[in-house]
Amino acid sequence: MVDRAGALTALVLGSAAGGGFPQWNCGCRLCALARAGDSRVRPATQASVAVSGDGQSWVVVGASPDLREQILRTPALQPRGGPRDSPITGAVLIGADVDALAGLLVLRERQRLDVFAPRPILELLAANQIFDVLDPALVRRIEVVPLEPMPCGGGVTLTMLPMPGKIPLYREDRAATQPEAGPTYAAKLEAQGRSVIIAPACAEITEEVWARLRADVVFFDGTLFRDDEMIVAGLGEKTGRRMGHVPVAGPGGTLDRLGDLPGRRIFLHINNTNPILLAGSPERSAVEAAGFEVAYDGMEVRP
Ligand SMILES: [Zn+2]
Repeated sequence: MVDRAGALTALVLGSAAGGGFPQWNCGCRLCALARAGDSRVRPATQASVAVSGDGQSWVVVGASPDLREQILRTPALQPRGGPRDSPITGAVLIGADVDALAGLLVLRERQRLDVFAPRPILELLAANQIFDVLDPALVRRIEVVPLEPMPCGGGVTLTMLPMPGKIPLYREDRAATQPEAGPTYAAKLEAQGRSVIIAPACAEITEEVWARLRADVVFFDGTLFRDDEMIVAGLGEKTGRRMGHVPVAGPGGTLDRLGDLPGRRIFLHINNTNPILLAGSPERSAVEAAGFEVAYDGMEVRP
């Protein structure tokens, strides 16, 4: 195993958008290839990234419903001894969608843990009794003030970066008269002068967003390649931007806006309809030619 002591490390536990890849009920071309075991595509679980500054304790950014499976297949996150143990000391919540926080329920079982989240997400947890299954005597809920750095364990400093977002799908009807954005953040994690940003959702790359995306490595919203991808595929009625995700291609898209961003840029939170998942596709070639990488489950990055 790679020696991770004393260096900022990010492990991609899951790289896919909500639903995963293949998605259980999806018959799109790419899901069919993944289900058939085609070697040009890699199946992927829903987005979560584990980060450590010392290789000993880890914070998980984004708690996807696949977190149990992700932990089981990641040696660095398994118990080291004693009747109850985990190298996971914290969970950082940056979105309110099911695929961004349902994984918290996987982290029950009487384990000490710090949950870091901005106030709107803590309010959402407080309003949903099912999260009380996390024993408050062991699981601290810690409010993170956006843009104010704070330690989050493992020798890592956390800064929450607000991102343009949308309303979580399950609250859309209630909020229909008032279509304001729901809580959407990126997490910046720093240790020993190195930094990584995890930004799985961003509806628009504004000047403010552009200025905030400064890190050695930026994992960025790779949900859709084209804004109308879901509509064209007959899988939905909404554009990517309407769903809170700026497209990879097109005017104002990520290739256009982040083409000259310094540092490594890696697409994360990739929807199963996105042709960048297919090795050898023109879209995959286009992002690689532009200097972007495509995250995969198990990818290890040392900024
Ligand atoms: Zn699909």
